[in-house]
Amino acid sequence: MRIVTVIGNRPQFVKAAAVSRPLRERHEELIVHTGQHYDDELSRIFFEELGVPAPARELHIGDGSPTSQTARMLAALEPQLDELAPDMVLVYGDTNSTLAGALAGAQRHVPVAHVEAGMRSFDRRMPEELNRVLTDHASDLLLCSTETAVQNLEREHVGGRVELVGDAMADVTLAFAPIAEQRSTALADNGVEPGGYHVVTAHRAGNVDDPQRLERLVELLEALPLTAVFPVHPRTRARLETAGLMERLGGVRMTPPLGYLDFLTLARHARTVLTDSGGVQKEAYLLGTPCVTLRDTTEWVETVDSGWNVLVDLDVGAALAAAERPAPSGPRPELYGGGQAGRRIADALDAYTGGP
Ligand code: UDP
Repeated sequence: MRIVTVIGNRPQFVKAAAVSRPLRERHEELIVHTGQHYDDELSRIFFEELGVPAPARELHIGDGSPTSQTARMLAALEPQLDELAPDMVLVYGDTNSTLAGALAGAQRHVPVAHVEAGMRSFDRRMPEELNRVLTDHASDLLLCSTETAVQNLEREHVGGRVELVGDAMADVTLAFAPIAEQRSTALADNGVEPGGYHVVTAHRAGNVDDPQRLERLVELLEALPLTAVFPVHPRTRARLETAGLMERLGGVRMTPPLGYLDFLTLARHARTVLTDSGGVQKEAYLLGTPCVTLRDTTEWVETVDSGWNVLVDLDVGAALAAAERPAPSGPRPELYGGGQAGRRIADALDAYTGGP
């Protein structure tokens, strides 16, 4: 069978790294890269480091509002799907590329499989939440990372087939953590020691596009007790520059977005990870690093229930208290499938279509 995978941004490249290999053992897979993320730091390095196969097509869509980006992607995907004539379209996560891929596939009457289906924050102000809900209802095969996601889809009475497969990103974290440990020099490069720094990431529109909330993020960075290593997403850098807030961050160890191996190594040895990223919350859990989430909701509720993650929104006092809390004692339960999601996704696709 011919599968067209539509991806376009950083977390999707990571997830594809877990799935493309098992898929290609049994099927023809063609990657269409929408170009939602196009910089070397957010795109190329992930293909290289994680061995994601080169895209068959690149759409070069670039920046824009969710509406204009999604519209341009749809227009660009239609002739690609006509030409490539896939038997299935595969999409990941919750971005504009996800929704555009799912909608273009569904409108062409090609079965659509959605990896990381059923995640919900129940906050419709997040552009990602709208993408998740719409993608799930346009998809035929809904591949869930967690039991919570399965339950969310049951409550919404989605039309497609729902399967619990585990989390593709977790496969990559578990596989690459030991490799990162051997290869990365990120701690020395940033002048930090294990346990002696915090890692911070922030790029959600709800945090960085609102000037008051962006300033609260800066106040938090200024107040953190240990060195903050802050790989700055291009969106966040642009907002900080526009708001004239860069000069307040002189005490922060700011870097460009990091490659996966360097980021994993820094997250693994940090005292705490502070983030508004979905993937990073999960990775902190898998790496055994306490996490502080700079949002008031999360899709990864198990990390909070297990005590490894605390939601503080952008409350600076709450964030500081959470950043200094001790790591929970006792074993961490296996929440995300133990590194088997890629193979299970390939199996689920075979079962859906009646065989390899
Ligand atoms: N990541 C990275 N370098 C960085 C920051 C994050 O490689 O400087 C990785 C991180 O390990 C995770 C993914 O990017 O695998 C998360 O992407 P992002 O936060 O952009 O998206 P989200 O998960 O919030 O959708």
